Amino acid sequence: MQFEPVIGLEVHCQLATESKLFCGCSTTFGAAANHHVCEVCLGMPGTLPVLNKKAVNFAIKLALAVGGKVREQSVFARKQYFYPDLPKGYQITQFDRPYCEGGTVQVNANYSVDLIRIHIEEDAGKNIHEREASHVDYNRAGIPLVEIVTKPVIKSAADAAAYLRSLRSLVRHIGISDGNLEEGSFRCDANVSIRPVGSMNLGTRCEIKNLNSFRNVERAITYEIERQKELISSGSKVIQQTLLFDAESGRTLPMRSKEESHDYRYFPDPDLPLLHIDTERLAAVERELPELPLAMSARFIENYGLPEHDADMLTQDRDVASYFEKSVSATDGKVPAKIVANWVIGEIVPLATEQKWNFLKPVISCNGLAALLKLIGIGTISNKIAKSVFEEMVKTGEDPQSIVNRLGLIQVSDEDAIIKVVDQILDDNPDQIAQFLAGKEKVLGFFVGQIMRASKGKMNPGLVNTILIKRLESRRG
Ligand code: ADP
Ligand code: MG
Ligand code: ZN
Repeated sequence: MQFEPVIGLEVHCQLATESKLFCGCSTTFGAAANHHVCEVCLGMPGTLPVLNKKAVNFAIKLALAVGGKVREQSVFARKQYFYPDLPKGYQITQFDRPYCEGGTVQVNANYSVDLIRIHIEEDAGKNIHEREASHVDYNRAGIPLVEIVTKPVIKSAADAAAYLRSLRSLVRHIGISDGNLEEGSFRCDANVSIRPVGSMNLGTRCEIKNLNSFRNVERAITYEIERQKELISSGSKVIQQTLLFDAESGRTLPMRSKEESHDYRYFPDPDLPLLHIDTERLAAVERELPELPLAMSARFIENYGLPEHDADMLTQDRDVASYFEKSVSATDGKVPAKIVANWVIGEIVPLATEQKWNFLKPVISCNGLAALLKLIGIGTISNKIAKSVFEEMVKTGEDPQSIVNRLGLIQVSDEDAIIKVVDQILDDNPDQIAQFLAGKEKVLGFFVGQIMRASKGKMNPGLVNTILIKRLESRRG
């Protein structure tokens, strides 16, 4: 029998507020354990939660960005379970009346994933197990999250990873989360089942927890699909359970049997009023919503004539997109946008990643990049020289024109000067001339290399090519 996988993803995404969801404690990552805590997030008796307005606005922003339906009155509920990292003995979340239902994450022009719901909830603390003792750090307790739940509609591990990448780029783009996987602000659980191809029913699913990289999501799902196929093919059954992914062995391992929602004894939190979101508030948040990545990508293709691949790369990060647009405009129309895109994708982004710069304060300014590219455009330097000028700009912060002047890098476009060097190289290499004349065109590359070396890369490559071929042909007997 042929089986097909069915995957549904749950993402916990930390909202980028300064303070926690129900108290004033800081959300800053990396503080010493238990330094960002108070009576409220430690669950002391007699304390009351106060809802963070900004967190709700961020959540609404996401709902609008995915076209979800925002409920006018939603309800915070208590989800009870007992675990040391949960000081109150319950988590405040949303259950049967979440603030947002439906919606779609557009992965690319041809693929989208439908959502069941998005709800607001608080994070739990963190248990730290050492050899001799276990500790709890409550800095995370009460951090605001949204949980984004897809329908069981994803058909492969690769699609799951693609969905997660675009969801992450979306939350960063609209500025509601830093989407940082290493710091735990973007976490994914994957529900996986298989069913006979053509069947409309869902198979029994397993839920894989703790997937901390996109690569591990793909590995875990791929492994789990195979595990389930083998189970069923050998006549056994998939048991519904919660699994852990072990990145080292690449396997999924049982963690606990799956809880049902009645195990949590949900009920509306009596300490919190209903969450009212009226149309005015929706409209106010909507006005703050920036152009979404896919719309922006379409605009880049249309306005700048970029290939889809470049437009997608540039719009994955809003700051990179804006850096690109500012650089294009700084070239005053003297450099094709495609050249600017090549440099931003090929040089600027890798450098920024390596040097960890913030695109709002780039080491190479948009004007600096534009000035460099204009020098190529007007033929002062070749693309190759531009790379060394660029390296020098990174090192010294000088502007490109002064670097070119200081290092004497101006491109030679004087034909007589080029002819002189070309003839010299030809005279030095009679064997290669004979090969060329015998039809071996490959030796052209050899000549160009020699000529460029002789001129330290400063001769206009276009002219060198034309002149070289002319001079070679003139030596035909
Ligand atoms: P919970 O995990 O809290 O019980 P749900 O039952 O709503 O919550 O399901 C959570 C996720 O599991 C959703 O993303 C949903 O698409 C997915 N899911 C549910 N049933 C299946 C299934 N049979 N196969 C794959 N994914 C499933
Ligand atoms: Mg779940
Ligand atoms: Zn607190």
